[in-house]
Amino acid sequence: MGARQKICFLPYDSQEDIVAKTNTKITFLGTATVVPTAGHDTASFLINGRHLVDTGWYAVIKMLNYGFNPMDLDTVFISHCHHDHYIGLPHVIFYHSMRKKERPDRPPVKIVGPAEDIQLVTDMARDFLQIDRFSLMECNVEVVPIVPGESLELDDLHVETCSTIHPVQGLCYRFTDKKTQASFVYTGDTAYHPPIADHARGASLLIHEASHGPKSPADPGVWGHAGAPDAARIAQLAGVEQLALIHCPEPLAQQSVTTAQQIFPNTFLPEDGQTIEIPK
Ligand SMILES: [Zn+2]
Ligand SMILES: [Zn+2]
Repeated sequence: MGARQKICFLPYDSQEDIVAKTNTKITFLGTATVVPTAGHDTASFLINGRHLVDTGWYAVIKMLNYGFNPMDLDTVFISHCHHDHYIGLPHVIFYHSMRKKERPDRPPVKIVGPAEDIQLVTDMARDFLQIDRFSLMECNVEVVPIVPGESLELDDLHVETCSTIHPVQGLCYRFTDKKTQASFVYTGDTAYHPPIADHARGASLLIHEASHGPKSPADPGVWGHAGAPDAARIAQLAGVEQLALIHCPEPLAQQSVTTAQQIFPNTFLPEDGQTIEIPK
């Protein structure tokens, strides 16, 4: 068995060369629940500055705030097509259409998401931007519909998916950085779902939603969300190294972490703008 990977926290002021560094970098752009408070955004993060996972309300502005160039994005992964996870998609397309001269030969940005909804949502984003009316705004994107259980190969990432329990089709992503072999899992929104533990087995990091705060929901199937104890049980079953709780109601966030730590001690609450590093 190889050496266990250790997740390190970068100081906030050392993010300028994140893309150039060797280790896998995850930057949380937002961590809040469905309606964020001022200065925050709902759950969304970057992988190595190149891949955006969920768009929050305004991920493009968040990227600029934290020193990233949205034109570096190659892929947008959408966990599921509820508004708080894709409402920032028109911003990404608009930014790329306005700045496309900066990368004239770039391949289209991939928009990856649940097969049932991702084409519709991308078409609606383009319609909202009236791209057919304003031809200068034409922006080359490639929609990649994924059915839960399917995998995807990019030049730098191996991506596996499994289902979630949520009112719309959801993708729980497992990303493996081909350069470092670091694996990490993002649930999107889901109720307690033990197959996610199999999917996350041995990963360095599990990013799990805890929309219900410190308590498990009484009837998890109705809303399709989890509480902190559910996230901690999945982390424990999966044998991951660390658990990041996201999508917690803000006033209950610290209490949620404390509750999860009683089941899975290596639980933390990421902050907007925080980068964590997973070494080789
Ligand atoms: Zn959500
Ligand atoms: Zn949702």
